[in-house]
Amino acid sequence: MKALFFDGSLRFVADARRPEPGGNEALIRVLMAGICGTDMEILKGYKAFRGIPGHEFVGVVEAVRGPYTGLVGKRVVGEINCGCGTCGHCLKGMEKHCARRTALGISGRDGVFAEYVTLPARNLWEVPAHAADIDMVFTEPLAAAFEVLEQVHVLPTHKVLVLGDGKLGLLIAILLHNSGVDVALSGTHEEKLAIAAGQHVRTVRAGEQRASRAYDIVIEATGAPGGLDAALDQVSPRGTIVLKSTVADRVEVNLSRAVVDEITLVGSRCGPFGPAVVALASKRINVRPLVSAVYPFDDALSAFDRAGQAGSLKVLLDFSANR
Ligand SMILES: [Zn+2]
Ligand SMILES: [Zn+2]
Repeated sequence: MKALFFDGSLRFVADARRPEPGGNEALIRVLMAGICGTDMEILKGYKAFRGIPGHEFVGVVEAVRGPYTGLVGKRVVGEINCGCGTCGHCLKGMEKHCARRTALGISGRDGVFAEYVTLPARNLWEVPAHAADIDMVFTEPLAAAFEVLEQVHVLPTHKVLVLGDGKLGLLIAILLHNSGVDVALSGTHEEKLAIAAGQHVRTVRAGEQRASRAYDIVIEATGAPGGLDAALDQVSPRGTIVLKSTVADRVEVNLSRAVVDEITLVGSRCGPFGPAVVALASKRINVRPLVSAVYPFDDALSAFDRAGQAGSLKVLLDFSANR
């Protein structure tokens, strides 16, 4: 099969071995995949990953080994964390915190930048027939946005600020706005802020923002080392900061501000797929303005170049163009 392979550099290979599903796993033919910031970090050495990257996808189940055979022929999206299934965290439904977990295209498991991929069948969510691949391929990142609502009780009276106008910051701001939350998005890119404004989200230029200590909840999604400091400037005493950026560099922050102001810090990663599937299939969240480009999979290396360019948002790989 055709696949992208990373072993220190990214290569397109035409003769990769098609994976065999293990016990309780499904074999999935990939229809569409998304390039994410984490993939770009992997190319820089994140997690020392070697193999086929990619974790955002829509595909069709070709075969299942074990239960869930009803999924064969169904169009699906898939949760990326694969726990051992037997440890205390897994038994509590926290596979994403399993110490022995693998993560699709991120650690210990080949990902979706290939014609075929395998995943535990229990990780899969069927996609409604009317929903478009180009919308549903956003399920994984939108689920990460939903995780904020899963973790923090946002009250109607709360003022919320999202820091960072990248893909995740935009998705979080648009999701919160569409959920009735009083939210503003702070960023540095005119054209990205315009996408949020186009969906009626209030926007602020980060450079023009003074320390306000006015927001009950600040969601840090800048992806930059200075993000937590900037969040501490904006959060009100007794407020909450949700940390979404996984910054590889060590960060120096004066945390005494968090102590004195009694700030709650919440780490936040992958989220629930169910509500993301519903929101995208029902078009309650419009992700189309976030698509910068769609490339045929054969042109995947050009797609990565595009994804690395300043100003790019989501770059997608379309596998149907190959057939
Ligand atoms: Zn991702
Ligand atoms: Zn486990």
